[in-house]
Amino acid sequence: VIWLGQPEHSVITTCAYCGVGCAFKAEMKGNEVVRMTPWKDGKANDGHSCVKGRFAWGYATHQDRILKPMIRAKITDPWQEVSWETAINHAASEFKRLQAKYGRDSVGGITSSRCTNEEAYLVQKLVRAAFGNNNVDTCARVCHSPTGYGLKQTLGESAGTQTFKSVEKADVIMVIGANPTDGHPVFASRMKKRLREGAKLIVVDPRRIDLVKSPHIRAQHHLQLRPGTNVAIINALAHVVVTEGLVDEPFVAERCEPVSFEQWREFVARPENAPEATEVMTGVPAAELRAAARLFATGGNAAIYYGLGVTEHSQGSTMVMGIANLAMATGNVGREGVGVNPLRGQNNVQGSCDMGSFPHELPGYRHVSDSTARSQFEAVWNVEISPEPGLRIPNMFDAAIGGSFMGIYCEGEDIVQSDPNTQHVAAALSAMECVVVQDLFLNETAKYAHVFLPGASFLEKDGTFTNAERRISRVRKVMPPKAGYADWEVTVMLANALGYPMDYANPEQIMDEIAMLTPTFTGVNYRKLDELGSIQWPCNDSAPQGTPTMHIDAFVRGKGRFIITQFVATDEKVTKRFPLLLTTGRILSQYNVGAQTRRTENNQWHSEDRLEIHPHDAEERGVKDGDWVGIQSRAGETVLRALVSERMQPGVVYTTFHFPESGANVITTDNSDWATNCPEYKVTAVQVTPVMQP
Ligand code: SF4
Repeated sequence: VIWLGQPEHSVITTCAYCGVGCAFKAEMKGNEVVRMTPWKDGKANDGHSCVKGRFAWGYATHQDRILKPMIRAKITDPWQEVSWETAINHAASEFKRLQAKYGRDSVGGITSSRCTNEEAYLVQKLVRAAFGNNNVDTCARVCHSPTGYGLKQTLGESAGTQTFKSVEKADVIMVIGANPTDGHPVFASRMKKRLREGAKLIVVDPRRIDLVKSPHIRAQHHLQLRPGTNVAIINALAHVVVTEGLVDEPFVAERCEPVSFEQWREFVARPENAPEATEVMTGVPAAELRAAARLFATGGNAAIYYGLGVTEHSQGSTMVMGIANLAMATGNVGREGVGVNPLRGQNNVQGSCDMGSFPHELPGYRHVSDSTARSQFEAVWNVEISPEPGLRIPNMFDAAIGGSFMGIYCEGEDIVQSDPNTQHVAAALSAMECVVVQDLFLNETAKYAHVFLPGASFLEKDGTFTNAERRISRVRKVMPPKAGYADWEVTVMLANALGYPMDYANPEQIMDEIAMLTPTFTGVNYRKLDELGSIQWPCNDSAPQGTPTMHIDAFVRGKGRFIITQFVATDEKVTKRFPLLLTTGRILSQYNVGAQTRRTENNQWHSEDRLEIHPHDAEERGVKDGDWVGIQSRAGETVLRALVSERMQPGVVYTTFHFPESGANVITTDNSDWATNCPEYKVTAVQVTPVMQP
């Protein structure tokens, strides 16, 4: 431990890592952080933190920070440091040149969960108002876009239904495709407390995650499915509910669309959805499935928590709708202790979606084809907004390779490391004539950039983040931006250089504009956030203090809508050449692509990605724990060290994606969710072979 001295003052802010959104006290000496301690009054964390959050300031002062804007003509040229004015004017003139040469739709922007709400709002505004198209997307594309789609279709709102505290009233907890211990540690502690008090647990996961069996906790049912069979599992659970008379008929009659329910009931009751019909394919014994379904439907308050193991599939949206169907059919929506709870991966992934960082939706999830919504924004922004949805991230890549998408403004997102099929992403960026990266570090994407604009860490700016429970919390500046400007100021400068006037004195003014234009944010302002500490949206005249639990008396869309969730097997099949299924995830001490945590104390606990492999599969290949192995897929190949582990089931291997040199996404494929294009990171057919140390 390094003693950095006695703090002189402290500032309350919000952790910039995972979707729990813990409140922290940054203890300061001058402009330097001495330590960060969890804030006792933080409603998302109740005074707790995890190992990531405690060291979260380390990367802000890391020597790798780039503090001067840079430009270069070609990506093979050396970077040239320039003034902010030169860099911004160069980027703007390049974007204008490309639009003149290739058309209005040839450029776009990508925002990130690392941005504040105010920054995400400004990036989409820049794209819509200054570029004049809807080519804006966010990293939610590659994680929870199916959540937004699936929950909107069924319940009417693209967000989780509960507050984290709600888990304290749950009697049965079903965790699907999530590993809260590693991904959402502080919420995991809350959940484990409830489990130790006696709540029952059902885990649906291909791996034996620690929740399945850890000190004082043992899951009643571990449905250890084969990757890619989620939808068959949720249909089988629903089959048991429907055929064994476990539907909450009064709830369904009062709250749901009768026609959609009857159609769904008839569908899930079909013999092909019975547990016995699916057990060979899913690998889950029918008796286990039946017992789990009965427990879920009859065990009292039943809450579902799910993660990227649900969404990152070719049927990600289908599975989200299947989860909502099951919750509605059993009457588990609309009160504390129940609900459909997506565990959002990143700190502000909910917020970046709320702020309209989607090519089809304006802030507040209003479709760009909605002329009423468009006209509200047009009146305030003083522009005409295109009614045509723009390009999603993967469509941008395809269009770049096709020669029609030639420039991108990428703020806070390392798409080369985080998006699937790295070779494809690199080819797309190489084909573009102007790649502008705004980030803290020269990340993997910056290798393909022509303009680099230094970013500001969460400690260097004001704003807000919105966590997985829709909780809007303040981010407060504790030190001046090291490169001179906060990210929102850079976007403002770029918009002005493009000829679209933006003028804000501070992020508070941006939030006031968001509140004016977004029905779910009408009652949100910094004064209220300071008074209440945080607010869960919707916050408006009907709910001036915010909304901890949604859909209490009626669903946001009116009646809940059941949707038929036909299981369709992924195209990604095992073969003789690729006999194992790879699935990916994260570990406790690292965060996302690791750009931040790798530059903090966290790196000492986990300094490489490993390939987890079952002892039988390892032995068959002559692989011992710690050996180097090559992993080949249809997309590419990489090399990692093996971690032989009984957490895996035979035939399934697992790795994390925190280190660029490991290249986990070199091997993931272009398969994606049918509705949202969320990549199918969770199913890649691979072969594993022993190799010499690289
Ligand atoms: Fe909280 Fe997540 Fe930050 Fe850990 S990483 S302190 S759980 S917000």
